[in-house]
Amino acid sequence: MPQWMLNCPNCQQEFPHSEIPKEKASPLSGPFGFLIEKPLFPEGGLKLECPNCGESSVYKRYELTLRTD
Ligand SMILES: [Zn+2]
Repeated sequence: MPQWMLNCPNCQQEFPHSEIPKEKASPLSGPFGFLIEKPLFPEGGLKLECPNCGESSVYKRYELTLRTD
């Protein structure tokens, strides 16, 4: 299942933000063969704790990257 990933600025490790439900992945276009809308973030960013190092950081929507493996 594809996942949205975020990159921790403290330890430089990627961790999953959310999984992408199959119904959101439509067989249209895009670099990975389907088009997916990014999840909405609160204005000003989303505060999350890194599961690797425990550091809390504020993430922006544009920082989401797609992992499809
Ligand atoms: Zn971290």
